[in-house]
Amino acid sequence: MSEKQHIALPLKYRPMTFDDVVGQEHVVRTLRHAIEAGRIANAYLFIGPRGIGKTTLSRIFAKALNCSSPKGVEPCGECDNCREIAQGRSLDVTELDAASHNKVEDVKPIIESVQFKPASSKFKIYIIDECHMLSNAAWNALLKTLEEPPPHVRFIFATTEGDKVLATIISRCQRFDLRRIQTNDIVSRLKHICELEKVDAAEDALLAIARGADGGMRDALSSLDQLISFKGDKIGEEDALGVFGLVSRSELENLAGAILKGDSAAILSSIEAFDSAGKNMRRLAGELLMHFRNLVVLMALGPDSKSLTATPDQVRVLVEQSQGADAGRIFRVCDQLAELEDKLRYVLSVRTLIEMSLIRASRIATTATVEELMKAVRSLREGLPADLPAPQAASPAAVPPPTVAPAAPAPAAPAPAAPAPGSIPAAKSGTSDRGISQSRKAILDDEKLNSMLKAFPGSSVVGIRDGN
Ligand SMILES: [Zn+2]
Repeated sequence: MSEKQHIALPLKYRPMTFDDVVGQEHVVRTLRHAIEAGRIANAYLFIGPRGIGKTTLSRIFAKALNCSSPKGVEPCGECDNCREIAQGRSLDVTELDAASHNKVEDVKPIIESVQFKPASSKFKIYIIDECHMLSNAAWNALLKTLEEPPPHVRFIFATTEGDKVLATIISRCQRFDLRRIQTNDIVSRLKHICELEKVDAAEDALLAIARGADGGMRDALSSLDQLISFKGDKIGEEDALGVFGLVSRSELENLAGAILKGDSAAILSSIEAFDSAGKNMRRLAGELLMHFRNLVVLMALGPDSKSLTATPDQVRVLVEQSQGADAGRIFRVCDQLAELEDKLRYVLSVRTLIEMSLIRASRIATTATVEELMKAVRSLREGLPADLPAPQAASPAAVPPPTVAPAAPAPAAPAPAAPAPGSIPAAKSGTSDRGISQSRKAILDDEKLNSMLKAFPGSSVVGIRDGN
C-alpha cells in the first residue's frame, strides 16, 4: 500500500487557470477580456447550481487580478500571491461563507477593512459564497460600500439561488449565469483524469458517472473518487450505474428504439425490468427526454453539432435512429416526455404513469398526423389524376407530377423514352386505360410515396396492390 497521502480528486484536479475551467466558456471569455482591457467592475455575481465551478472561478479570477507575474491574463500559480490565494491564506483576499456567516456582525469586519490598502497585492478582494443567505440587515450594511467601494476593493459574490438576491444588489454587480456542464464535457474531463490516475474505466462507466452528476463537475469527481476507492483501478459501467440507480446506455437506447418503432411489448417489458431492478424511474424519464432532444438536434443540425450533448458512441446510435424518423413526430414525442417529467413530480404511481406515457409516445412516433394525411392526399391527387373519381380534366398539365415522373414506361409500348416530368400528362392522356395501371405501378415503385404510405396505420403499399 502506498504511504502517499490521499488527496480527494475534486481538490486535486481543481482548475487552476481559466484554461482549465470546463463548460463555462461564455463567462471565462468575458472575464479575460475584462482583465485584458483593465476594465474590472466593482462587483461580480456568479449564479449557478452547485459544483459547477463558481468558487473555483472566483479564486482564479482573484488570482488573475492579484498575480504578481501573470502570463497574459492567466495567473502564474507560482508567485506568493497566487499560492496564498490557492491556500486560502492571502491577507488581501477574504472569503466569507454566507451560509454560516450571514449576520451584520459577520460583514462588519469587511466594512471596516475596506478602507485599508492591500498588504502586498493590487486589490483587496472579498469573495462571498452563498451570498443569498446574507440577512437583509447584513446586505444593507454592505450596500453603501458596494455602491462606492474604494478603488482598490473588488467583490465577488457567488450563489446557487440568484432569484433570492435582492435586485438592488444585482444591479450593482456584473452578473454571470454559469451553466450545468454538458455530459460529454464531463466525460472527457473524467477520461483525462483516469489516464493521469492510471485507472482503467470503461467509457460507458464514465458516462454513467457524468449522467449521475447532472452537470456538476465536483459531484462527478467525488463519485469517481468513491468508485476508485470501492473498486480499485478498474471500473465498469455496472459499478457506476449501481451508485446512481441509472439504467445502462444501451438499455436506454433500446427503450427509445422501441418507442420509435411503436413496440408496446418491448416498452412494457423494459419498464418492468427497470422497476424490479430498483432503477430511478424519474431519472429515466428525464434521460429519455434528453435522448429524444438529442435526436431532434441531430436531425436539425447534423451529427457534428455542438448542441448535441452526447458521446461519440451515443451519436452513432442517434444517427441510426434518426434514419427514416420524422422530425415533427419526434418533436411531439419530446413534448409528451416533458409532460411526463412534469407529472412525475406529483404522482405516487410512477411506474403506471411512465408505462402509459411511453406507450402514448410510441403511438405519437408511429401515427400519421392530420397534416401528414392532408399532404399525402394532396400529393396523391396531384400525382395520380387517373385514379381519382374526379374527371380527367382535374389534372392540369401545369402540375408537375414528381411521383410519376421517372416511372417505368409501359411494358410493350414504344413510348417516347424517359419523358420529362412536365410532359407526362400529355403522354398519358392519349392512353387512358394503360395510364391507370401505369400510375398504379408508379405508386408501387415510388420510394417517397411508399414511405409516406407506410405512415398510415393499416394502410400499406401491399394494401394498394391488393385493391388493384
Ligand atoms: Zn501569480
